[in-house]
Amino acid sequence: MKFDEFNFKGLKAIIRVDFNVPLNSNFEITDDTRIRAAIPTIKKVLNDGGSVILMSHLGRPKSGPEDKFSLRHIVDHLSKSIGTPVIFAKDSIGEETSSMAANLKPGEVLLLENLRFHAQETKGDEGFAKQLANLADVYVNDAFGTAHRAHASTTIIANFFPENKMFGYVIEGELDSIDKVLHDAKGPFTAILGGAKVSTKITIIETLLDKVDHLIVGGGMMFTFAKALGGNVGSSMVEEDKLEMALNILDAAKKNKVQIHLPVDTIVADKFDNDANFKMSDVHNIEEGWMGLDIGEKSAEAFAQIIKQSNTILWNGPMGVFEMSNFEAGTKAVANALVEATKKGAFTLIGGGDSVAAINKYDMADKVSYVSTGGGALLEYIEGKELPGIKAIRG
Ligand code: AMP
Repeated sequence: MKFDEFNFKGLKAIIRVDFNVPLNSNFEITDDTRIRAAIPTIKKVLNDGGSVILMSHLGRPKSGPEDKFSLRHIVDHLSKSIGTPVIFAKDSIGEETSSMAANLKPGEVLLLENLRFHAQETKGDEGFAKQLANLADVYVNDAFGTAHRAHASTTIIANFFPENKMFGYVIEGELDSIDKVLHDAKGPFTAILGGAKVSTKITIIETLLDKVDHLIVGGGMMFTFAKALGGNVGSSMVEEDKLEMALNILDAAKKNKVQIHLPVDTIVADKFDNDANFKMSDVHNIEEGWMGLDIGEKSAEAFAQIIKQSNTILWNGPMGVFEMSNFEAGTKAVANALVEATKKGAFTLIGGGDSVAAINKYDMADKVSYVSTGGGALLEYIEGKELPGIKAIRG
């Protein structure tokens, strides 16, 4: 069932959204990307003359309700974003919630309290899913970030809507753009991988070696490669047990005729702190006591050239510790190159929590082709895994 073609007039839609947004100590939203992403889906239902029941998780509550994880903190922001007052249900299930849902009129929006205040959510409990399902006529899944989890609200609930279940615009957009990159990429195709550890990116690297022309490696994982190649990496982040794996990746790339681009220089610091002393160093000759926290200028320039000559680009993971201003230049240079490439007509997909945070930090989200809201889910989808939340609807 295509969301856009469905008429919600007079119907109640329960929409699984991803409102797992970062909050500061005053419970203010520090990045509302995920809320903004869900607005078109919500508005489509309201504009059709339907009503909306929103459900999400927030954070990782351990056992039962915890105020710091309450979705009540986002009600005002959400009301402003939708342009209509949002009614809040203090529990995601129960009699009071059922009657609030039953009384919901066309054009109205009800937000349920954090689903994970009930342990049954993450356990994928059928009874819990049924109680949620009973609140509405139609199920819409628009939370790509949790589509890789077989939770009650992301997967099990779909069983109670054999006909009326569909993806919202967010998931549809995600799937379209990832499929475009994976199955319909116009070459040269370049993947840029960064972030902390190579161990969490192994499968994705293996999958991409079948598809890309260029693989750019930055971030903490570059030092595992540098050490595996015999370099001195000082006290940079290294996964000692992944050295052989790094060499295997380089071998496999050669066999697949994929050009791997590793940084030649790095900005090293004498401690993991923005106030540290820092200087430029060769990646393979880092002095003892110094650690690489960003790629160097030469590497950033070389990476930017490759990016600008590519027609399809996938970026996951920052080039350095971009949260600290002294070590963000490499990540910023890559982000700028992606914007340039997009201007020239390349398809650019940014995915994975931290590169998304970076692109938002530099206000470049609307200057690239697509910014994915799914971190782990995106990676699993690219790796070729079947996501339970996707299967529950696609069959
Ligand atoms: P990931 O979630 O694996 O994409 O990792 C993202 C994190 O990696 C960010 O918080 C960065 O600060 C961190 N990171 C990137 N480069 C380095 C580095 N050279 N050393 C330590 N941490 C890094």
